[in-house]
Amino acid sequence: MAERVLVIGSGGREHALAWKLAQSPHVKHVFVAPGNAGTADSGKISNSAVPVSDHAAVAQFCRDQDIRLVVVGPEVPLAAGIVDDLTADGIRCFGPTAKAAQLESSKSFTKAFLDRHEIPTARWKSFTDPKAACAFINSATFPALVVKASGLAAGKGVIVASTKEEACKAVTEIMQDKNFGTAGETVVVEELLEGEEISYLCFSDGVTIAPMPPAQDHKRLLDGDEGPNTGGMGAYSPAPQISKDLLQKIRETVLQKTVDGMRKEGVPYLGVLYAGLMLTKDGPKVLEFNCRFGDPECQVILPLLRSDLYEVMQAVINRRLGSSMPVWKEDSAAVTVVMASQGYPGAYPKGLEITGLAKAKQLGLEVFHAGTALKEGRVVTNGGRVLTVTAIKEDLPAALREANLGVAAIHFQGATYRRDIGYRAIAFLRQSRGLTYKN
Ligand code: AMP
Repeated sequence: MAERVLVIGSGGREHALAWKLAQSPHVKHVFVAPGNAGTADSGKISNSAVPVSDHAAVAQFCRDQDIRLVVVGPEVPLAAGIVDDLTADGIRCFGPTAKAAQLESSKSFTKAFLDRHEIPTARWKSFTDPKAACAFINSATFPALVVKASGLAAGKGVIVASTKEEACKAVTEIMQDKNFGTAGETVVVEELLEGEEISYLCFSDGVTIAPMPPAQDHKRLLDGDEGPNTGGMGAYSPAPQISKDLLQKIRETVLQKTVDGMRKEGVPYLGVLYAGLMLTKDGPKVLEFNCRFGDPECQVILPLLRSDLYEVMQAVINRRLGSSMPVWKEDSAAVTVVMASQGYPGAYPKGLEITGLAKAKQLGLEVFHAGTALKEGRVVTNGGRVLTVTAIKEDLPAALREANLGVAAIHFQGATYRRDIGYRAIAFLRQSRGLTYKN
């Protein structure tokens, strides 16, 4: 019998999760809380106003609506223990417990965990006293340093310092000025790593890992990776410049070792494990973990999943991933382009009408909404990142062309977007004779 599912969150990632879950014959309806204009009354998907930080209210909503599966998109509810609370209430939940989610919510926990299990990462030290942190910085022999708030800071709590003065200033801003609130009560100071950055994600049922196609996002606002850092202006998958051998090495030395380590420490990790890695000359090293899909990486990874996402999530929760490994579309590539509001990542206007969505759909694109709302029956802007336009084609260059056509069909005043998502991968493909465009 088909079931009802609840997705927690409101971004492009959650729209993509709801879109993929709604394709399952096991799923009769997907609620998204709080959702956006794209998830409001579209086919099998609708929004719910249940307050997501009130776990008892979410549990009651699930009982009232006969919801059998809750899927948590963002990190904040995971760190707040929504999976622990709903599971204790008898509701099946996809995502790690609060203790397991420490892999994202506490950088000092993670660094110590990585060292305990000999998983490669930058050399580091953590501090709860700003004076001690500065004394360490002044005595450090590393050429450059990175200062990080240990807790959740919406991706903003990391300062790459080029001098010792800059590093000490960062400590003061995090610990004394409390720029990131309680997330900065502990800081991690670590050595600067150099190389190319990649994201490698997997499903984990606590024992078995099922890797996803590697994805790369573009954090900078402008073409050519220029301009300020953002939440992500686009992503592509697969990443053909990363060799199969290297991916295998990361699976063995990072992903599987992490899942094994968590299990051995009595905290089995179930859900999506996202490793952010630096490919250094000494091999891949962990920069961070996320305990959920990335946004916008999710919007390129899920369209490449051939299997039924509902079945994959059930296999994770039932700890049977090993006997039902997900299957991916090996013959396709996906590109997503983020359309942002003018002024983002700074201040931006809201409430501007968006047109051309139906035309982009007719062109065969998937338009995942992020910061959108409905106003008197019209779709309007309601956030910094407004839409993610995803194209799935036979190769990356074709997917980028298609995504750019989709973006050109959509209009709102001041729309800001990049035209070069995946440019390095595409240049790599053009240069490598004998390799196909398909990875
Ligand atoms: P994190 O949240 O720890 O991944 O840090 C955010 C971003 O800061 C990363 O995606 C990197 O671009 C950069 N970063 C973090 N740690 C380091 C490091 N040790 N060396 C160089 N860059 C880093």
